[in-house]
Amino acid sequence: MADLVERAAGADRRTMSADRELRQRALAVIPGGMYGHQAAGPLPADYPQFMRSGRGARIWDVDGNEYVDLMCSYGPVLLGHQHPAVEQAARAQAALADCQNGPGPVMVELAEALVATVRHADWAMFAKNGTDATTTCCTIARAQTGRKRILVARGAYHGAAPWCTPRPPGTTAQDRANLGYYAFNDLASVRAAADEAGHDLAGILVSPFRHDAGFDQELVDPAFARGLRELCDAAGAALILDDVRCGFRLALGSSWEPVGVLPDLSAWSKAIANGHALAAILGNESFRGGAQQVFVTGSFWFAATAMAAGLATMSAMRSEGAIAAMERAGTALRDGILAQAAAHGLEVNYTGPVQMPYLTFAGDRGHQLAGEFAARALRGGAYIHPRHNWFVSAAMTDDDVAMALDATDEAFAAVRRRLSGK
Ligand code: PMP
Repeated sequence: MADLVERAAGADRRTMSADRELRQRALAVIPGGMYGHQAAGPLPADYPQFMRSGRGARIWDVDGNEYVDLMCSYGPVLLGHQHPAVEQAARAQAALADCQNGPGPVMVELAEALVATVRHADWAMFAKNGTDATTTCCTIARAQTGRKRILVARGAYHGAAPWCTPRPPGTTAQDRANLGYYAFNDLASVRAAADEAGHDLAGILVSPFRHDAGFDQELVDPAFARGLRELCDAAGAALILDDVRCGFRLALGSSWEPVGVLPDLSAWSKAIANGHALAAILGNESFRGGAQQVFVTGSFWFAATAMAAGLATMSAMRSEGAIAAMERAGTALRDGILAQAAAHGLEVNYTGPVQMPYLTFAGDRGHQLAGEFAARALRGGAYIHPRHNWFVSAAMTDDDVAMALDATDEAFAAVRRRLSGK
């Protein structure tokens, strides 16, 4: 009975003492205690900072509290945490060697598998992070065309290097001097930016859909994608798809294959090795020469373990029907959440593909309601995010969806109470 009363009041029954202690220690030895996306736009205070383990679609924080994982490590986990076949392949490679004087044979096998899987790709190069991949795509586009200007969508995230970081401290105006800006899904704005670049247009960088943090998501208008393709063809510039966040979550291929538009270059990371550190740059024949000229590398870029994990990830995605599994779980989650919002009389926007959804509340400009919702969902055992799109993994079972929906139902009730001033 006491338990029921506590639940109804939304009491937080988790312990967070190990997390609090680690945060305290971090303050002394890590600038600000945390940095990057783990610190920017901080999560509500009730979120754990430090995580202990994960299995399938469940994760445990350092205090042992359990959650259904709807962030998937901000995208890298696609088949679920500790996927047996992926971890087995990684362990087998690691038992031989990981970081050596040269890559293992798996580098060629992985490049062959990607070229066979991603329609626009005739070749592949590998790196570690998404920023490596987007930056390398721009470098190759410039090397190939002999031009400087790259167009990007205003507000889009392409990584944390000085040319693209959303937070300017420490960067210079020169770092961005060769960028031009357009609005996503607005072809006229791209044409204007291309006109301004004139003969200096090296490429247009675009994400598969608009997934800027904190905003309702916007799917791509196929006419916009086709328009970019035509514009790049006419100008002799590179169409560069930033598939870092979406890659392999929407399709086993480039995310614009279903739209019918093939880029010249694409940037990949996050999910391609199910949580192992791997990025890929894929390109077509026209940009092979540029790719051959540039000097891009890193001490860990040729490490074999993540490549073995990448190969196993693609294979498991096929054999387990991962895209369909994510669509199924994502649809059940969306339907459940929309029904709950309606039942609580709350007006929400649930946007984006079902595997990468994002929830906002009507009129909630400061994200206060989204923050309350996320914090309450977390207490109930669903790890979501108030300002970033969520990720559904192929490991989500009916039980996981049910546990997440129990938590979101309580969270909607809390938002309702807040709006009613109770
Ligand atoms: N592009 C997009 C679309 C991303 O979402 C991200 C990461 N959130 C990046 C690039 C940069 O990737 P990374 O953080 O691995 O450098």
